[in-house]
Amino acid sequence: MEFEELPIERRNRRAGSAVRIGYRRIIQLLVFFVLVPSALLLAVGIVLMVLRGAPYSLLFGILIVSFVSVLVTGSVLMLVFLRRAANLSQLQADFVSKVSHELRTPLTAIRLLAETMQRPATADEVRAECLTALSQEADRLTLRIERLLDWGRMEAGRKLYELREERLADVVNDAVAAFSPARNLLPNEFSVEIADAVGSVMVDRLAIIDAVVNLLSNGRKYGGSPLVLKLRVYVQKEHAVIEVTDNGAGIARSEHRRIFEKFYRIDDRLSRAREGSGLGLAIVRHVVLAHRGRVGVDSAPGRGSTFRMILPHRGGRS
Ligand code: ADP
Repeated sequence: MEFEELPIERRNRRAGSAVRIGYRRIIQLLVFFVLVPSALLLAVGIVLMVLRGAPYSLLFGILIVSFVSVLVTGSVLMLVFLRRAANLSQLQADFVSKVSHELRTPLTAIRLLAETMQRPATADEVRAECLTALSQEADRLTLRIERLLDWGRMEAGRKLYELREERLADVVNDAVAAFSPARNLLPNEFSVEIADAVGSVMVDRLAIIDAVVNLLSNGRKYGGSPLVLKLRVYVQKEHAVIEVTDNGAGIARSEHRRIFEKFYRIDDRLSRAREGSGLGLAIVRHVVLAHRGRVGVDSAPGRGSTFRMILPHRGGRS
């Protein structure tokens, strides 16, 4: 379906290109006013050091070369910081367009469903189906807005985690129940394996459910066709491990760290074709770190991916 671009998206696209233009202009200014004079000064410094004609020329030469080195180091550092700031602004601009698109999709569906229901000719059965679909779309919308609000709280440091002793198997089973595509997946497409020894852990139930659902949704989104998605929970030394494996296209090693950064999405055909805001894995990481655990990914192009949430565990008590 073709969507007409919203003013906010247009504005963000313009903001993104403004950032890029600003960054290019700064590089040009640096080259003209810092790097070119520095190169000339460096040449003078070297000539002074080599010729040593006048008294103190060696000292002047060394001073000039040191000054130029400091100047060039400072400029390079400034460029690195500016590059980071420009990248972040670009990511934020992209993020706002992606989010508005993500919110617009269920909204468009709701509008179409409501219009169908309003038509007098609509049969009662169709109306009932529309009603079910309406409630599903409204849930989808609520979930997305809640995720954004949750992320806002995490960023502002206002997200409170209430750690309680919970049976990990129950928490993971709740996550499976909340992972709505699970209902439509066949047993050979989606399997769950929970070791008896996992027992209880200190967790914020809802946050862990959210994180597991994020990993499962990614497995579903980026998995292969036909899909093979596995959820495993087991104990390894003093840790409880929640592991989600898919048979998708996999992720290059160079991206393993970046995919956990906020707003970051791999710029490939698969990611571009899927809806997403680049927040899912950042949320998973935030949740796991708040539990004093760590996240990990094992993946290579063409070999699928395994994501792990590794949580502290006190010996698998039941
Ligand atoms: P998104 O909303 O884009 O899915 P995430 O933070 O969940 O955001 O993921 C960040 C990026 O990491 C995704 O855009 C995708 O490129 C990549 N990614 C995440 N999970 C997988 C996976 N299971 N297989 C391949 N790529 C993945």
